[in-house]
Amino acid sequence: MSETIEQHVARLHRHGVVDMHFDLPMDLYDKRARQNVLATDFLEDLDAGDIAIAGVALYIEDRYLPEMGLRVALDQIARLYHEVDGSDRFAVCRSYQEILRAREQNRIALLITMEGVEPLGGDLDLLRVFYELGLRSLCLTHVRRNAAGDGGLFAPGGSPRGGLTPFGRDVIRECERLGIIIDLAHISPAGFDDVLEIATKPVIISHTNARKYFDIERNVTDEQIKSIGARGGVIGINAVLVALTKEEATLDRYIDHIEHVRDLIGIDGVGIGFDFFEFIYRQWSEAEQVAFQKKFTHALFVPGLAKHSDSRGLTRRLIERGFSDDEIEKILFRNWMRIFSERL
Ligand SMILES: [Zn+2]
Repeated sequence: MSETIEQHVARLHRHGVVDMHFDLPMDLYDKRARQNVLATDFLEDLDAGDIAIAGVALYIEDRYLPEMGLRVALDQIARLYHEVDGSDRFAVCRSYQEILRAREQNRIALLITMEGVEPLGGDLDLLRVFYELGLRSLCLTHVRRNAAGDGGLFAPGGSPRGGLTPFGRDVIRECERLGIIIDLAHISPAGFDDVLEIATKPVIISHTNARKYFDIERNVTDEQIKSIGARGGVIGINAVLVALTKEEATLDRYIDHIEHVRDLIGIDGVGIGFDFFEFIYRQWSEAEQVAFQKKFTHALFVPGLAKHSDSRGLTRRLIERGFSDDEIEKILFRNWMRIFSERL
C-alpha cells in the first residue's frame, strides 16, 4: 500500500520545520495593547505549517531611530516573553537543550535574533545584556548604515565599500566569545568579506537568495555561497526576494534558489529563512504601503509561499521536483539543528 503525497509530506514534517527569519517581535510590539496575540494571530498558521522553531528578529523601524532604538528593542523582548508566558505552546530557547525540551513539550521554540545592531548604538557592553535576555543570533546590519557597517543595497551594485567599522569587528569577536551565532544577511559585500576574515566559527545567512536569479547586492554571489559552505554554515532561502518580476516570483523559482545553493555547496548548506511579512504589510495604511514599496521596490509576495501554513505546499513541490527525503529533511529541519547543536 503506497503512501499518499499528504502522508509523505506529513512524514517529512514529523520533526517540524525551522524558519530562521520571522519579524514577530516587531508585530507583537505594534499590538502591545492586546493580550494573547501569539495564540490568536499566529498559532493556527504556524501549526498548519508544522513550524517547530523560528528565529524571531528584533528589528527597529526608522521612525524610532536613533533615540528609541534600545528602548523599542527591549520592549519587543518584553512583549515576546509576556506572550510566551501566556501560552503553553511556545518557549523562548537559549540553548540546543532548551530547544529539544521545548519540542518534547510540543512547544514552538523561539530563538531571539537581531536584525541590525541599532539597539546597541555603539556600546559593546549592551551586547552582553541582550545575550542575557536570550539573544542567540545576530545580523550586523539591515540596509541602512549603522555603527557596525553598511547593508548591501537592493541594487546590482553601488553598496558602500567601507566594510565593517572597528565597532563591527568588536561585535563579531564578542558574539563568538558569548555564543551568539553570526548572521551575514543584509551586510554589504565588503562587510561580508570582513566578517569572514574575523570569524573563526561557522556563520549563517538567515534569509537571503542567490544573485544568479535575483542580482542585487543584498543577495549573495556564487563565491559568497561557497565561502559559507566551506565553513560549514547554512543559508536560509528567503521567500520575498525570489525574483525581480511578479511573473518570475513563483514557488518553483524559490526552489531554484534552493537547488542552486545545493549544487554549489551541497545539501548540508541549505535551510529556510522565509521572512514572511505580508501579514505586517497588510496591516499598514495605504501611505505606509506606498512608502515601503518605494523603499523596497523588489519585495514580492510569492503566491503559495506567503505564510507559514504554505510550508506543506513547499514540501509537496520539493518532492515533485525530485528532492530525496533525506535532502528535504535537511533543508526543513536538520541543517539548522546541526548549527544549533554546534553553536548553542
Ligand atoms: Zn531582512
